[in-house]
Amino acid sequence: MLNPLSILLVTVLSSAMAMAVLGSLWRVAIPGVGHWIVANALAIVALLAFSLQGIGPRWLTFIASNTLLAASLWLVVVGCRHFLGRPPRAWLGYSGVAAVCVGMIYWTFAVPDFAARVVVASAFHAALYAVLAATILRYRPKDRPRYNYYFVAIASVLLCAGHSFRGLLYGLGHLSQNSLMQVTPSNIIFLALGVLAAPCLSIGVVMLAHDRLAERLERLANVDDLTGVLARRAFITRGEALLDAARQDGTPLAAAIIDIDSFKAVNDRHGHAAGDRTLGHFAAFVAAGLREGDLFGRLGGEEFGVLCPATDAADAVEQLDRLRASLAATAAADLPGGLRYTFSVGVDEYRRGESLAQLMARADGALYAAKAAGRNRVMAAATETA
Ligand code: GH3
Ligand code: MG
Ligand code: MG
Repeated sequence: MLNPLSILLVTVLSSAMAMAVLGSLWRVAIPGVGHWIVANALAIVALLAFSLQGIGPRWLTFIASNTLLAASLWLVVVGCRHFLGRPPRAWLGYSGVAAVCVGMIYWTFAVPDFAARVVVASAFHAALYAVLAATILRYRPKDRPRYNYYFVAIASVLLCAGHSFRGLLYGLGHLSQNSLMQVTPSNIIFLALGVLAAPCLSIGVVMLAHDRLAERLERLANVDDLTGVLARRAFITRGEALLDAARQDGTPLAAAIIDIDSFKAVNDRHGHAAGDRTLGHFAAFVAAGLREGDLFGRLGGEEFGVLCPATDAADAVEQLDRLRASLAATAAADLPGGLRYTFSVGVDEYRRGESLAQLMARADGALYAAKAAGRNRVMAAATETA
């Protein structure tokens, strides 16, 4: 049963199924998916053309088949580069596809040579798989799980090695045959490896697309729409992790709760839309002023939370007071004319054995005191309770 024709037909079926799976991702508009679908369609036509070798005309079974398969792999690469936000120089790949086509015409009609055709096709495929592996490893998003990206990269490296080996064996004259349909052990082995290539790549790109979907959902769940900073739940989750680390390392951790002063009046005077812009301005201003490693999120309404690792309450008060003073002293250029605002902050530091909720509650108490003392100020819980 293991003959070249059945191997090719199995590959056609697997490409058709890959198209169906990729088709389900079409509507979510992930860059690259369109290229991957067309790549599978081209691969199906190419493989059907290959399977007609010995029956169909040579322009179809040698030239068109090889050219379409080369174009199909190039489209996989193009899709991956679009997916990673690195659109390629398209002419480079299409020149390669054209070179494959010219090589096939020459070694089919001018100087018929099966081995030379194999070398041309294998060299092109090996080069593209190498480009694919390098692209994925270089541009994979570093904040996403590595698994899916490594799957595609490792599959590409193995396929690159397989094609290089095949090209070398035929190029050096270690193998010879005159048709893809010949039942020789080496031909069957290489075709069987080729059969694995299509599903491997298709599964790989589907995994990449699903990772992108997961990333979008995580973003929706973790990031506050209006301000672009962490939403409450994500802030608390990451805050718990910072607290655990501080507990383990025995380092201090400062917590601050910030509330914009008289924000209701901002809305009443300038309108809700201006209020929204003020929230965006505030979030960007504070985010830019915090240190790397500090955690910042919107707790709700016009109230925000900050956690500063390796920082005690006095340092956090100083840091936030610098921000407060700098905002109070400047009129925001990108807010409606005359819109000035200030904020108040309550600060405290982690005490051994307590929970994040307890720490935040004390910072909230300090914020309440800062409001009561006249607003536009930063107060630490210790000074309030002393
Ligand atoms: P205080 O100085 O005591 O904090 O006074 P405040 O006016 O800032 O506090 P209050 O709790 O009375 O009002 C908060 C206001 O924040 C009321 C609410 O409409 C507004 N607000 C909450 N979330 C949003 C939002 O997403 N956009 C806008 N534009 N306003 C919001
Ligand atoms: Mg307020
Ligand atoms: Mg409030």
